[in-house]
Amino acid sequence: MGIDWDSIITILRENKKGAVLPSVSDIALMNGTPYKILISTVISLRTKDKVTLEASLRLFQKTATPEQMIKLSEQEIEKLIYPAGFYKRKAAQILRISRILIEKYSGKVPKTAEELITLPGVGRKTANLTLGLGYGIPALCVDTHVHRIANRMGWVETKTPDKTEEALCAVLPEKYWIEINELLVIYGQTLCTPVSPRCSLCAFQDQCPRIGVEKSR
Ligand code: SF4
Repeated sequence: MGIDWDSIITILRENKKGAVLPSVSDIALMNGTPYKILISTVISLRTKDKVTLEASLRLFQKTATPEQMIKLSEQEIEKLIYPAGFYKRKAAQILRISRILIEKYSGKVPKTAEELITLPGVGRKTANLTLGLGYGIPALCVDTHVHRIANRMGWVETKTPDKTEEALCAVLPEKYWIEINELLVIYGQTLCTPVSPRCSLCAFQDQCPRIGVEKSR
């Protein structure tokens, strides 16, 4: 029997109600342009959601486009996004990304993952989130939560997020590719946590093979 994705998504959506959204989802809801989604995703790497959101909003109060961004100095950007993790490196990346967008793409964010991943500091995760939340282009962003839960549930059997993206795209209907990231991030933060997941409270406990789970609550 195949996987009942509609029921799974319904349960995940239910769990989302009242939950704190990932920072980049918040930016998307606040009229986030593809450029803002891209930049806030760069800021979000190895940074807590709250810090990412505040840092992004401080930066976007000063600048909303690549053309405005390059008028800021690297030190000004550092100051605006501090205390995001690796803020110095990210400030340099944000400036370089903005210059490339102006020089190569007329100030627009490209619409393919292949082009996006050529930008400094942009990997598949950032590229897919930008395509999905920025342009509504079906793209599956696999972060640590999506990778972990997809393997625990036995939807895929993979060692790396890139392989998970490939394998999950093959089984998950395309209409859910954009949404699944946010749903599983929230599920991974609240129930299917990295260490000792809360299986006794989980709506999937009867169907989940809990692959790789050694300890649970
Ligand atoms: S049963 Fe446990 S391992 Fe499986 S999805 Fe739920 S919390 Fe995660």
